[in-house]
Amino acid sequence: MNTYDELLKFLTENQVQLVAVSKTRSDDEVLSLYQKGQRDFGENRVQELLGKKDDLPSDIRWHVIGHLQTNKVKYLVDFVAMIHSVDRLKVLKEINKQAKKVDRVIPVLLQFHIAEEDSKFGLDEQEAKALLESDAYKQMENISIEGVMGMATFTEDTAQVRKEFKMLKRIFTQLKTTYFPDSPAFKEISMGMSGDYQIAVEEGSTMVRIGSLLFGPRS
Ligand SMILES: *Cc1c(COP(=O)(O)O)cnc(C)c1O
Repeated sequence: MNTYDELLKFLTENQVQLVAVSKTRSDDEVLSLYQKGQRDFGENRVQELLGKKDDLPSDIRWHVIGHLQTNKVKYLVDFVAMIHSVDRLKVLKEINKQAKKVDRVIPVLLQFHIAEEDSKFGLDEQEAKALLESDAYKQMENISIEGVMGMATFTEDTAQVRKEFKMLKRIFTQLKTTYFPDSPAFKEISMGMSGDYQIAVEEGSTMVRIGSLLFGPRS
């Protein structure tokens, strides 16, 4: 068995969905996974995503996983499957506004800052609370918040990584209880990358975002 088949077997046994992260990869590299049956792909740059989307099969479900500028949202709303990286009310407002124009409801995740590194984007719990309690959010009709996303610190210290994934799981449960008790759609915990997906799955991930393990190291 190859890496893809083994990974898929492990994830399927744990009921975890695979988003294959195709940033920097060629169309042919994406197609080779597509031909094995992979349909969910993740990109972190809008420009690159738009290029790939035009060249590749139309039944690919594209996930936006990188920091999103509001002026790029309008290019995504008519096709994107899920936006994992909502980290402020402003971008959520823009997604709602543009989604309304194309008559879609866009599935999104709230990205949390769980790592020790400052460089990573994301909300903290106070900011998420403020967002979810805002009148602006309550009036949005073209957004479906379906869970949370986070990136752990890039470190060999697995105890640290596990602690951060536990924190994201705790935040998910807290939000679910407080704001989404009657929403079956609020169910996703997007955590785990090539280096830490096993820990993420043990800690309750429902979606992993994996690139280099599938495609080789990025140059
Ligand atoms: C690049 C990227 C990944 C995948 O990283 P790998 O280490 O190649 O698996 C996952 N999530 C986000 C947000 C990324 O930017």
